[in-house]
Amino acid sequence: DLNAYDAVYYTGQSNAGSKTIAINLPNDEQVQLRKGTRRLQLKNAMRAKFDKILVPIGEELIAEDQQSHIDFDAFFANVMFHEVAHGLGIKNTVNQRGTVREALKEQAGALEEGKADVLGLYMVTRLQQQGELPDAELDDNYVTYLAGIFRSIRFGASSAHGRANAAQFSFFQERGAFARDSTSGRYRVDFPKMRAAVDALADRILRLQGDGDYAGASRLMAERAVVSAPLQRDLDRLGSRGIPVDIIFEQGVDVLGLGR
Ligand SMILES: [Zn+2]
Repeated sequence: DLNAYDAVYYTGQSNAGSKTIAINLPNDEQVQLRKGTRRLQLKNAMRAKFDKILVPIGEELIAEDQQSHIDFDAFFANVMFHEVAHGLGIKNTVNQRGTVREALKEQAGALEEGKADVLGLYMVTRLQQQGELPDAELDDNYVTYLAGIFRSIRFGASSAHGRANAAQFSFFQERGAFARDSTSGRYRVDFPKMRAAVDALADRILRLQGDGDYAGASRLMAERAVVSAPLQRDLDRLGSRGIPVDIIFEQGVDVLGLGR
């Protein structure tokens, strides 16, 4: 099932490092196949990241006339369908190489995050076209998605999300899904090309997963999950503007005035 929640307290691993805004558990493929998964959207944490990080990133890096497309409902939908995509897709390779996770080894996490991103956006697109998301403006989903790529690359190469987003950036840029204006230093989405690039990357990742193609996955990530010098300079602009990489929580009984 899938529901939206407000988080009241983050503790342990979930309060160390990057703060999750949506959850799809369990990760174990056997349990997933037998019992399904539960998805949680943590709406207040999502709102905080949107207001404090995503909107300021857009103001710095997105073309001025596309900034109005950075929209909370689009962010919420993109994250939601990212989680839906985790729950779908290929769990076992189609050629007896065991589970995708076993076959792809240390590449499995980043590939799965990339899959969830592009397949999620693919689903938003198709559902909207079928009239299932009457309130969705696809342009909002795409521009918000691009701002989200910058946000997630900043998690760094040690994070599966960071690597997955660096790979998406490279793949999309090569296909003209967005263009950088060298005068303003801002990025503009080309909607038809981005749609095609999303389809192409979803196709590529799903095949690597289905085939359990470890060599192919390693090659894709080695080629793509690299932050180029021009991109790094743009990301540095976010840091110098004081835009945080992530949020931290002030929480607990003392903050609530309930401490002794
Ligand atoms: Zn994910």
